Amino acid sequence: MPPKFKSPKKQAQGQGPRVLYWFRTDLRLHDSPALAHALSLSPSVFIPLWCWDPHYVYRQRGAANRWNFLVSCMRDVSESLTALNPKQKIHVVRRAPGKVMAELLRRWKVDVLVFERDTDAYARMRDEEVVGIAEGLGVKVVSVSGRTLFDSDEVVKANGGKPTMSMNQLVNASKKIGNGVPNRPLDRPTCLPDPLSAAEMDLGDLDPNDRKNDGSGGGKKEMDYNLPQRTLGKAKNTQYETGIMGPKRDFGIPTLEEMGIDPADVTSPHKGGEIAGLATLKSMIENPEYIGTFEKPKTAPTDFEPQSTTLLSAHMHFGSVSVRKFWWDVQDVLEKRRKQNKPISGEPVNLPGQLLFRDMYFAAHAKLGFQFGQALGNSVARFIPWHLQSNYVKGERDGSLISDGTYVVDDPQAEEYFRRWKEGRTGFPWIDSLMRQLKLEGWIHHLGRHAVACFLTRGGCYVSWERGAEVFEEWLIDHEVACNAGNWMWLSCTAFFSQFYRMYSPVAFGKKWDPEGNFVRKYVPELAKFDKKYIYEPHKAPIADQKAWGCVIQGDGANAEEKRSKVYPKPMFDFNERRQFCLDRMKEAYDVGLYGDDERVLSGEWKKLFDLEDKGGERKEETNGHLLPRGTKRTKAKAPDDAERSDDTGEFADQGDESQGEENDKPPRKVVKQTKTRKGAQKTLDTIVTRTRAMK
Ligand SMILES: Cc1cc2nc3c(=O)[nH]c(=O)nc-3n(C[C@H](O)[C@H](O)[C@H](O)COP(=O)(O)OP(=O)(O)OC[C@H]3O[C@@H](n4cnc5c(N)ncnc54)[C@H](O)[C@@H]3O)c2cc1C
Repeated sequence: MPPKFKSPKKQAQGQGPRVLYWFRTDLRLHDSPALAHALSLSPSVFIPLWCWDPHYVYRQRGAANRWNFLVSCMRDVSESLTALNPKQKIHVVRRAPGKVMAELLRRWKVDVLVFERDTDAYARMRDEEVVGIAEGLGVKVVSVSGRTLFDSDEVVKANGGKPTMSMNQLVNASKKIGNGVPNRPLDRPTCLPDPLSAAEMDLGDLDPNDRKNDGSGGGKKEMDYNLPQRTLGKAKNTQYETGIMGPKRDFGIPTLEEMGIDPADVTSPHKGGEIAGLATLKSMIENPEYIGTFEKPKTAPTDFEPQSTTLLSAHMHFGSVSVRKFWWDVQDVLEKRRKQNKPISGEPVNLPGQLLFRDMYFAAHAKLGFQFGQALGNSVARFIPWHLQSNYVKGERDGSLISDGTYVVDDPQAEEYFRRWKEGRTGFPWIDSLMRQLKLEGWIHHLGRHAVACFLTRGGCYVSWERGAEVFEEWLIDHEVACNAGNWMWLSCTAFFSQFYRMYSPVAFGKKWDPEGNFVRKYVPELAKFDKKYIYEPHKAPIADQKAWGCVIQGDGANAEEKRSKVYPKPMFDFNERRQFCLDRMKEAYDVGLYGDDERVLSGEWKKLFDLEDKGGERKEETNGHLLPRGTKRTKAKAPDDAERSDDTGEFADQGDESQGEENDKPPRKVVKQTKTRKGAQKTLDTIVTRTRAMK
């Protein structure tokens, strides 16, 4: 359906409203309900805006691959706007939205501010502030749902005001909204009104006064999670220093160099932008057999060039492909095959089912806010006394605990496991190849994510899922707060899924999908010449063979490249021993039955329940290294007693994807009596400030 805007007379006469269109999660022109709404107002002036927000620049982790994906999406949309109207483009304003919006609305005499609704926790706070500013100035604000199949807030309402914790709940709620059927996609616009003249748009005079007060402060003095990404050097980070309109005073899109990031660090083959995203979708749709019979658990995590799934997730994240277009293009194929009596796969393992999982996580996050992304205060997450737990500080507004971005090294062994996991040197080639692919390319298959997430948490290292989620935040090009936290909770059996005795083997899982070990050979090239018999357990190869195949298995993999001949580490632990250790710990935690919002968790009393003693530990920030020494954290876990034995062989590869095929409503809570009602999940910009202060 085309949007209503057709360059009407009213606009030509300058009578329509001045519309500021704020791009955020919707870097596309096709099927953008918010954009269609903005244009249906027949604007006399139309200003496409992007606020280059210091929050994302400094306080959300992201490596070169994701920044590159973002700017590719922005460039692409900007060029598409220009193609519709040579005077148009995205206008990037390098300031925090809350700091600059009043000025923009006043100067540009905006009548209506329009944007796509964003239910992420930070986005809600930001938008609340901006809406308050706009309405205070008499500007009408319209936010339109468009990021998900169904409006996440509506889903929560239809789910009785509760977070959606299962596919059933999501599907039932969606039936109450649109009969379970999302809207058909809208066409892209065919023309665009002009912005203001260059002179009227100009903000250059704001620079001298505004720069120091914009919340970025050039960003240098504030906590910068992305410092390690600035490989050109901190001093080269000029993205805010060259002025609110950028170095050319043309509202230009920041380059990687301006961010201090070396473009050579972009190693992902996956391309951003609406054009690339739609081309990928088209190529998938042109293969009806693939679309019609897609079953997620049957897609190989070891396939590359091409991968076995659509690889559209980063486009979903940046909005460069509409989720409804994806859904309906697939549905049209399925419908045709239905009529032809050709086989089709069903939900939730088919492609629409995958998109419903996405909606499920979005709605859960929409309801729970910040707490959805952390262990403490999280009412749906079981509390497990993992190693390397996040450090929490009190939020200023309501005093609830919020992760301050650091974690406590309570156990050096766990810290070493974590480092080796992140750096792809665990000595388990299946895990290492996945982690190296993740870092290099910014994407790994869903089952690959299963393997590494299980291994880090309940299937080997017994490290907090929050640490893994942070590494994914840094490296994934498709990082999405809701999907990342939700899936990490699922894999660590803290929420959504509870069968902790079903554990992935770091050897058998990969072997099942790729007996030749080609995936390992590609991403762990030092093992390229190993016989397939040893490719998943190279330490078992005779030393003479290791030498003949050009790689000796020794050490911990640190500084491997400095050694004269190639080396690859031995396994960092005996998996069977660790498996038992984790099973015992998980059983114990399930028996105790705490959830993240329990008073005993919030107060730290949980340590007594787990018979853990406090020992010294230092505080660390994941990407930046050590920060503060700190003195009170536990190290020892209770010795296993009545540990439940697993009936599983340790392989668990056939379940491949339990997350895509099973229902897991939250099991009834046990044992614990709430001693205090939890305060609301309200977070404000104050809290962000508190978090930042706490880092200094
Ligand atoms: C530990 C862990 C962390 C994850 N972190 C993220 C994340 O940060 N961002 C993210 O988009 N996905 C995340 N996922 C979900 C999933 O792995 C990816 O969405 C998927 O692998 C993307 O590849 P694809 O586009 O080829 O997916 P396809 O299989 O082709 O699926 C189509 C689309 O459905 C959606 N989708 C599929 N599976 C899921 C799922 N389990 N949860 C939510 N959406 C899904 C995605 O938008 C995807 O593009 C995570 C999974 C795990 C196990």
